Amino acid sequence: MTQTPVLDYEPTKIEAYDFRRAMEEASRCLLCEDAPCSMGCPANTDPGKFIRSIRFKNVNGAAETIRENNILGASCALICPQEKLCELECSRSGIDRPIQIGKLQQFAMEHERALNKTYLTKNDKYTGKRVACIGSGPASLACAADLAKEGVDVTIFEENQKVGGMLRYAIPPFRLPDYVLDQDISQLEKLGVKFELNHSVTFAELEYMKQEYDHIFVGAGTWQSKKLAIPGADLQGIVLALDFLTEAKENHSEMAPLGDVVIIGGGDVGMDCATTSKLLGATSIYNVFLESLEGAPAVQKEKDFVFRMGIPLISEFKPVEFIGSGKVEKVRFEHMTNESTILLKADTVILAVGQKVTEDTVSLKETEQIFTGGDMDNGGNTAVQAISEGRVAAAKIMESFK
Ligand code: SF4
Repeated sequence: MTQTPVLDYEPTKIEAYDFRRAMEEASRCLLCEDAPCSMGCPANTDPGKFIRSIRFKNVNGAAETIRENNILGASCALICPQEKLCELECSRSGIDRPIQIGKLQQFAMEHERALNKTYLTKNDKYTGKRVACIGSGPASLACAADLAKEGVDVTIFEENQKVGGMLRYAIPPFRLPDYVLDQDISQLEKLGVKFELNHSVTFAELEYMKQEYDHIFVGAGTWQSKKLAIPGADLQGIVLALDFLTEAKENHSEMAPLGDVVIIGGGDVGMDCATTSKLLGATSIYNVFLESLEGAPAVQKEKDFVFRMGIPLISEFKPVEFIGSGKVEKVRFEHMTNESTILLKADTVILAVGQKVTEDTVSLKETEQIFTGGDMDNGGNTAVQAISEGRVAAAKIMESFK
């Protein structure tokens, strides 16, 4: 896979803290006891502890804390909705504004990358035990890391060419550059986790794997995009968000011109589709969703990025009809609470109205030998929530070894 410059734009990197700025920000921390920010992180990344380390100029210690608690610490620094989690809980908000926890985490993880540091070590507590993780999204990676640290022999099976699941294929590189995700994955490799890529596990194989492995963790994600059941839904030019984002990331130089684009959906995926369309040179872009602007589920920094690119967001309208002859030409929307309608010209419509598990995985349930977690269990949530569920599964698996 090659990423051509058009999608390599990295505002996150441009905005990264330097040493002086990080120290200034960390010095605002109140060093709370029982830090509320730490309670607000589903993955237990423990910002209270790592910010304390930064404040005392111990950047190594900060990076070590992050890494011990969150195998995807570098990626989470960039993609986590901190405003809804740790930063929402920050005590400093009562004085002026919350500590920029994501930025400080990014600073510590850049230190790790710059110095090529390795903080995690492996012990031999469960040497001889074998676990297979199916899927390589955040839940599987987190589960694998916690197990590998305890000496478990872990193999991750991934049907795609590259590791990372949605993080790799559905998040645009300007929001999560590949080298940041690779930094996280390299920590797993250093722990001895093995990866079987291009390997789709069938139900028949799953039965065989039960003999080969002590336990199996399934974190298969929600790879099936939802569709809309309205007139014209089968017209050409209507594409699913995950297909669009994957194609844009993997193969955008061969994509046909997008023309006028209408995106339906106010979540992070919808915003990613909007910014990606802009970078790919769409003629016009409108992002339309049911919720109010404030109520749209995308995190604020994603909405801000869309605003900064000059992409109009149209709130509180629902799509009622796709219009065209063979190919989509227009989309009609009705207001959620009044009689007004709008008609938008569209050569491409991108549906970002949610994802669900594929039919194959829907019947998989936790049993004595199989554990599940991540989006396929929670219906699609944040990466950090999936990490949390992967860690819970790892703890249950280790409990079973006792
Ligand atoms: S809640 Fe805010 S002020 Fe308190 S320790 Fe965490 S980052 Fe610092």
